[in-house]
Amino acid sequence: MMPMKALVFSARKDEKSYLINAFVAAGHELVFEEVHLNQKTAELAVGYDAVVVFVNDQLNEACLEKLAELGVKAVALRCAGYNNVNLDAAKRLGLAVVRVPAYSPYAVAEHALTLLMTLNRHVHKAYNRVREGNFLLNGLVGRDIHRKTVGVVGTGNIGSVFCQIMSGFDCRLLAFDPNPSQTLIEQGVEYVELDQLLQQSDFISLHCPLTPQTHHLIDEHALQLMKPTSMLINTSRGGLIDTKAVIGALKKGDLSALAIDVYEEESDLFFEDQSNQVIGDDDLMRLMTFPNVIVTGHQAFLTEEALTNIAQITADNLSCLEQSASCENRLV
Ligand code: NAD
Repeated sequence: MMPMKALVFSARKDEKSYLINAFVAAGHELVFEEVHLNQKTAELAVGYDAVVVFVNDQLNEACLEKLAELGVKAVALRCAGYNNVNLDAAKRLGLAVVRVPAYSPYAVAEHALTLLMTLNRHVHKAYNRVREGNFLLNGLVGRDIHRKTVGVVGTGNIGSVFCQIMSGFDCRLLAFDPNPSQTLIEQGVEYVELDQLLQQSDFISLHCPLTPQTHHLIDEHALQLMKPTSMLINTSRGGLIDTKAVIGALKKGDLSALAIDVYEEESDLFFEDQSNQVIGDDDLMRLMTFPNVIVTGHQAFLTEEALTNIAQITADNLSCLEQSASCENRLV
C-alpha cells in the first residue's frame, strides 16, 4: 500500500495526538493547518494527496476545483455530516469523498441529554449563583423528566441512542423520521407526523441531517405548534432552526427554553477563541442574553472515544481508498 500525504485543515489542539497515532500506525503522512479550508485557502494543499476536513470547512465547487487542479485525490471528512461539501462537483472532478458515518453516537446523544438536564434544572444558573454565595432557590424550579413526552426528530445512529437513554426515564417517545426504525418501534417508540410531535412533546431533540428539506425545519410555523412549556435541544446542525424565529418565540414566551450546540452562522465563530473580539453576530449575542438559553460550541462529539474512533476511521478510509475504489464510507 502507498501511504497518503494528507493536509489536515481546521486542526484543533485536542485532536492532534489522536490523528498522529492513527495516521502513523497506518503509514500515512500528515501535516496540520489551523485555518479552515475554503476556496481561498485551498492552495495550501499543493503537493498533498488528500485533505482532511471538519464541519466548518467550506468545500464549494470553486474550492473543489482548486483542489483537483492541485492534484489532490481525496477529501476525508472527520465527521458524519457532509452538508458542507458539494458532492456533485466532487464527483464531476473525480475527487473521492469519505466520511466517518458513526464514531460515537453516545457522545452526541449524551451531550443532548446533558443540555436537556442542565436547562430543565437550571444548573447553568445555579453554578454561577452558588459561586457568589447566593444559595436562594428562586427561579430554579424544574420538572421531572419521568414520564414526560420526548420528541426525537431523526432516529438514525444518534437519535436511536437518544431514544434509548430517554426510555430509561420512562418517557413517552414520539419520533419523526422518513425511515422509521423497526427496532425502536419494538422498543415502544411511536412514529408520528412532525406536527403531532411538535404539538405533544415536552422536550424536543433534533437529530436529523441538514439538507435542503430540513433547512429551517424549526421555523415560525413549527414554533407556534410547540407547547409554550416545551424545551428544544439542537445538537445536529444549526441550519435546522430559523434563529430569528426562535428568538421571536423566546421573547413572546412561546418556547420555554432552548439549548444549542450548533448555530446556523457558526462557521466563522466556533472552534476559535473570540474572547478578545467584538462578536458581530447580533442574533447569537441576543440568544446568549436569555436566561433560558444555553449555547455550547459544537462540542457534542467531544469525547475520548469519539476522537479515537474519528482518527482511526479517517486513517482507515484513506488506506481503503489507496487499496481499492470501493470503500464503505465513500460518499462519491
Ligand atoms: P444518521 O444518518 O445515522 O441519522 C439521520 C437520520 O435522520 C436518519 O434516520 C434519516 O432517515 C433521518 N432523516 C433524514 N431526513 C429527515 C427529515 N427530513 N426529518 C426527520 N428525519 C430525517 O446520522 P447521525 O449519525 O444520527 O447524525 C445525525 C446528525 O447529527 C448528523 O447529520 C450531524 O449533522 C449531527 N452531528 C452533530 C455532532 C455534534 O458534535 N454536534 C456530531 C455528529 C453528528
